[in-house]
Amino acid sequence: MDANDLPHGAGRYAPSPSGDLHVGNLRTAVLAWLFARTTGRRFMIRMENLDRTAEGSDRRQLRDLAALGLDWDGEVVYQTDRLAVYQRVIDTLRDEGRTFECYCTRREILEAPSAPHAPQGAYPGTCRDLTDTQRAERRAAGRPPAIRIRADVTEFTVTDLLHGEYTGMVDDFVVQRNDGTPAYNLAVVVDDAAQGVDQVVRGDDLLSSSPRQAYVATLIGYPAPVYAHVPMVLNSKHVRLSKRDGAVTLADLAAEGVGVDRVRTRIAHSLGFAGADEHVELTTLVERFDPGALPREPWILTPDEWA
Ligand code: GLU
Repeated sequence: MDANDLPHGAGRYAPSPSGDLHVGNLRTAVLAWLFARTTGRRFMIRMENLDRTAEGSDRRQLRDLAALGLDWDGEVVYQTDRLAVYQRVIDTLRDEGRTFECYCTRREILEAPSAPHAPQGAYPGTCRDLTDTQRAERRAAGRPPAIRIRADVTEFTVTDLLHGEYTGMVDDFVVQRNDGTPAYNLAVVVDDAAQGVDQVVRGDDLLSSSPRQAYVATLIGYPAPVYAHVPMVLNSKHVRLSKRDGAVTLADLAAEGVGVDRVRTRIAHSLGFAGADEHVELTTLVERFDPGALPREPWILTPDEWA
């Protein structure tokens, strides 16, 4: 098959269904959709529900995304339906000698002297080279191990459409927690590859995780995606937006008389693609979208925005 015949790749939005989406999440979702749709990509939604979830919030998140005008391809993927897939990947990495069992508590990690030349915050290597006897002792103590990747690099470079070539730390990070749950940094990589995702658009709080994820992707044999880590939405104290900031979800804003059209307008305005009071549909934004012109600074959202 000629390269030109290959199906286009995909973008995605991957919320954690732990509550309703706030304006910051919605803005990131709009950007992910715009990046995908303006480059001929499919757009997928994945519910990252391996951690704490709030009953029904997946359905409310999907409803809100649709109300803004987003559409997506295929079925929504739920990570809890994919546990066997993650386990196979983790087992393969183990069989290839790419992982080790880690018996450390969080406290032991914090208190351990860091390895020479290791970057700040890196796993100190305590369990990396345990002898068989030491490992047997730890096992016998009864605390189940987490599984860590045996990284053979200390940093890795990714390509980011907003941040350029970004090099960040890679350490022996956890791929499976000691309760058996696959770690986010592993699941996200396995899922993106399975869904054909080659463009990852998300909040720039995750920029520093991308080298670990791209590195483990190459270990598994997946191509690394191209990233776009987009600025966050902050409150008037310049802290990441949260439910504590009052009416920041579509439901709460609607209760105050702020409809979804106005929210879409203000999101588009904050990105520089619409006038402050101009009615816009996402299809209009497709025509105006210019990734090079995106703001590089966070959007400071105050309640005045809706006055
Ligand atoms: N589930 C993550 C979140 O809601 C996003 C993960 C990702 O986009 O890679 O913050």
